[in-house]
Amino acid sequence: MHSTLSKELEAFRASCRGQAQRHFSSLVPVMDGERRFPAEARPVLAEMGAYGLPFATSVGGQGGSWLAWAILHEEVARVLPALGIHFQVNCVVAGALLDCATPEQIARTVPALLSGEKVAFFAFTEPATGSDPSLLTTRAERIPGGWRISGQKRWITNATHADLGIVFARDPDGDVSLFLIPEGADGVHAGPATALLGLRGTGLADLYLDGVEIPEDHLLGSAGGRFATLKRAMTIGKLGLSSMSVGIMSAALDEAVSYANQREQQGHPIIEFQAIHHLLAEMVSRTEACRQLLYWAATCKDQGSEAIVEVASAKLFITQTAVDVCRMAMSVHGVYGIAEGTPVERMFRDAKMYELLEGTSEVQRELVMRAFR
Ligand SMILES: Cc1cc2nc3c(=O)[nH]c(=O)nc-3n(C[C@H](O)[C@H](O)[C@H](O)COP(=O)(O)OP(=O)(O)OC[C@H]3O[C@@H](n4cnc5c(N)ncnc54)[C@H](O)[C@@H]3O)c2cc1C
Repeated sequence: MHSTLSKELEAFRASCRGQAQRHFSSLVPVMDGERRFPAEARPVLAEMGAYGLPFATSVGGQGGSWLAWAILHEEVARVLPALGIHFQVNCVVAGALLDCATPEQIARTVPALLSGEKVAFFAFTEPATGSDPSLLTTRAERIPGGWRISGQKRWITNATHADLGIVFARDPDGDVSLFLIPEGADGVHAGPATALLGLRGTGLADLYLDGVEIPEDHLLGSAGGRFATLKRAMTIGKLGLSSMSVGIMSAALDEAVSYANQREQQGHPIIEFQAIHHLLAEMVSRTEACRQLLYWAATCKDQGSEAIVEVASAKLFITQTAVDVCRMAMSVHGVYGIAEGTPVERMFRDAKMYELLEGTSEVQRELVMRAFR
C-alpha cells in the first residue's frame, strides 16, 4: 500500500518492525502460554522509546510525536500485543501526573517512568465499577502528616511487578482524588495474576491497599476533581489500544494471505477462490481505514488538541473492526483458525480484549455523543 507518511516515519517503522521481530517473537509463548511477564523485554522497549517517546525532553521523554508512538505500538503489536499494554501504562501514568501534579512531584517521578527505569500501575477500576467513578469505594483519610489509603482495585495491569503507581480514591470530601503510591510502601500487595481470554502475561491482578500510609505531598496536585484527569490520561491509553488493534489486524492479514497461498483444496491454493478474495479484500480495506483513522487521531494530539472525542471515536471503530478482521482471518484458516496455538486464534483473543479496556465501546459511544449534545 502507498504510504502517506514521511520517509523518516517509514524508516522508524522499519526499525521498530525489525526490533520487534528480533526480540519479541520468542516471547509469544512466554506471555500467552506461560502467562509470565517477560522482564527481559524491558531494556529493548526502553531502547525503542516505548515508555516515553511522545513526551517532552524537559520531563524525561524523547520529544517524539504521538504519531511515531502509534507506529511503534503498531509494530510491537504485530508481534506481541500483550507487551504494548505493559509499556503504555507508564505513559498513561506519566500523562496523569503531567495533568495534575506539581513540578516537584513530576520531577521526582515522571523521568523514571518515561525511561522505563521504573514500571507503574494505574489503579482506577474496582470490583464494583470500571465505568462509574461515583461508585469508587477506595478511601483516602487524613492522618497527621499525610494520608491513609484503603481499598481494593481490580484488573490492574503490571500489578504483580510494578515499582510504584497511582490510585484514584474517594477523599474526605467525597470527591475523587489521585495519590502516588511510592516504591516499597507498606500495605500494598497484588493478588494472584488474573486468568484472561487474551493479553496474557501482563501481570494483571487485583491490588490491595491495606491502610497504606503516604506523606502529605503524595496527593497529586490538589484534592478532588480527578475524574477529569482520568479522562484525559485515558486518551493516551485509548490511542495505544487503537494502535495495537491496527498492529493485530496487520498481522492477521499477513497470516491469512500466507495461509491462503499455501493451503490447497480441489487442486488449487485457496487464494484462487473468489470467496477467499472477498475475505482478504475486506481485511485489507478495513485495516487500512483503521490505520488512517489512528494516524488522524494521533495527529490531533500532536497538534495540541486534548483529542478526547477524536481518540474515543477512533478507539470505538478500530477495536471493533479488529475483532471483525481477526474473525475473517480465522475463516480463511478454516478450522485451523480456531485451533489452540494458531497465531490467528491468539490474535482474535487479544483483539477482543481491546473493546473492553480503557472504557468499553458503550462508554466510548457516550463520550462521542456528549460532543454533539
Ligand atoms: C486486560 C485488562 C487490563 C486492564 N487494566 C486496567 C488498569 O491497569 N487499571 C484500571 O484501573 N483498570 C484496568 N482494567 C479495567 C477496565 O478498564 C474495565 O474493566 C473497563 O473499564 C470496564 O469496566 P467493568 O468491567 O467494571 O464494566 P462496567 O462498568 O461494570 O460495565 C458493564 C457493562 O455496562 C456498560 N456500561 C457501563 N456504563 C455505561 C454507560 N454509562 N453507558 C452505557 N453502557 C455502560 C459497559 O459498556 C459494559 O457493557 C483492565 C481491564 C482489562 C480487561
